[in-house]
Amino acid sequence: MNTIDNYNFSGKRALIRVDFNVPLDAEFNITDDSRITAALPTIHKIIKDGGSVILMSHLGRPKEGPTDKYSLKHIVSHLSKLLGINVKFANDCAGADAIEYSKNLKSGEVLLLENLRFYKEEEKGNEEFAEKLSKLGDFYVNDAFGTAHRAHASTAIIAKFFPAAKCFGYVMAKEVANAEKVMHNPQRPFTAIVGGAKVSDKILIIENLLNIADNIIIGGGMSYTFIKAQGGQIGKSLFEEERVELTKEILTRAEAKGVKIYLPVDSIIADNFSNDANTENKQSNEIPDSWMGLDIGKEATETYKKVITESKTILWNGPMGVFEMDAFANGTKQVALSLADATSNGAFSLIGGGDSAAAIHKFHLEDKVSYVSTGGGALLEYFEGKELPGIAAINNLELGVRN
Ligand code: AMP
Repeated sequence: MNTIDNYNFSGKRALIRVDFNVPLDAEFNITDDSRITAALPTIHKIIKDGGSVILMSHLGRPKEGPTDKYSLKHIVSHLSKLLGINVKFANDCAGADAIEYSKNLKSGEVLLLENLRFYKEEEKGNEEFAEKLSKLGDFYVNDAFGTAHRAHASTAIIAKFFPAAKCFGYVMAKEVANAEKVMHNPQRPFTAIVGGAKVSDKILIIENLLNIADNIIIGGGMSYTFIKAQGGQIGKSLFEEERVELTKEILTRAEAKGVKIYLPVDSIIADNFSNDANTENKQSNEIPDSWMGLDIGKEATETYKKVITESKTILWNGPMGVFEMDAFANGTKQVALSLADATSNGAFSLIGGGDSAAAIHKFHLEDKVSYVSTGGGALLEYFEGKELPGIAAINNLELGVRN
């Protein structure tokens, strides 16, 4: 893989696309700095080589150009503290001081650019804007897996201005290596767990997983469209009428390919969508009219646990129920614990997608699974079989002179 380890950055200004899209509270304190700490090894390696670093990122979704709330100036002091360096800040990522600062950057120094999304050209993938940014560095490093599925100026388009001087940072390299391992070289049995609210959001990943997985476990709100398509009574559970035919097709295709699909035979049902609703454990195809399925039931949980602990590779995207409410968190928790069990028995487990990552953190299991991906949408698109622009832009290179 083409990573920063293949290069020596002595005397070079490395322009690094990082993902510093961190949550801030009302006083602009960073409430979770894991995206910043994840990028530190990449920055340290370049500085250790004798290079200098220019960091560029987005923060939030500014609509109207420069907005104080979304300024990256709020993270300068924390980043300086983490690095033990006084980080410089250019308050316009494509302005005169960005050019001036970057020109005069000395070895060991770090410059942070203001939010890229203050320019609408960033998300449009504007080539002139990408070229302007490219002038700030001698070498382009992409370390932002979370935006790898976007063809934005700083994540993909910019790479063409560094035909022989671009590579992945450590975060990106690890993400890509782990995703590739599951996609191309899974130890079998390979079980994919797909949950979440809607069939429509997960249909592409399920279709692609039919080509690679041995088992597909389905949970969450999306299960009920499958169950109703087979003639079940699902009450007020989530349902997507327009996906009924597709769910039938998936089951038929799975059977033809020898992929085993697991649907929850029973559910924790509730008489309203609230943590203190009345609940019962019922067969998923016998849900009374005014009730809804909000978690997988006891029998489904036992079946899923068995399949997971007997697997050698596990991919998990999406919760088994409304895990944000304690009354409906058990299915997701048991699945998470089974992943930890399987991992301690030598399986490789990859967790991705905002909500499954959130569930792993909620149950404090992040150290008990093989890898929790930082890229929700990016990982989902990777397993949908799409080529991610941020990865393609680095891989399509003619390799320059390596040391
Ligand atoms: P997704 O973003 O598609 O992975 O969906 C995650 C969301 O789906 C979470 O907020 C869950 O609360 C929600 N969810 C999971 N299962 C159900 C269900 N049975 N009914 C309603 N919402 C659900």
